[in-house]
Amino acid sequence: MTEVIATDEQMTTRRKSIAELLEKSEHPMTAHDICSILDIESRSIVYEDIGHIAKSVKNSGKEVLIRPASCGKCGYVFSSRKVASRPSKCPKCRSQWILLPGYLIRSKR
Ligand SMILES: [Zn+2]
Repeated sequence: MTEVIATDEQMTTRRKSIAELLEKSEHPMTAHDICSILDIESRSIVYEDIGHIAKSVKNSGKEVLIRPASCGKCGYVFSSRKVASRPSKCPKCRSQWILLPGYLIRSKR
């Protein structure tokens, strides 16, 4: 498999599309949703982009809101302190059924 190295311009365009999507959406969007809508090949790209977006939207008076990831089995809610986190296992019941975190962008009041 060859690694595709994106240019800065492509990355900016992709982050812009993600940011627009999160601004327009009425419901929190998961990395999975974002991948399928924008045809992005890997969720880890989305998590990385959201980390960058969270920093850059602050300059325009907006913020990334996070619906934290939770355990599908016992309902344990993961800490959302880390913006782009993707837990793999529940610390409480060890289940790997993790409901992905969701993201939205809204103006700060
Ligand atoms: Zn659990």
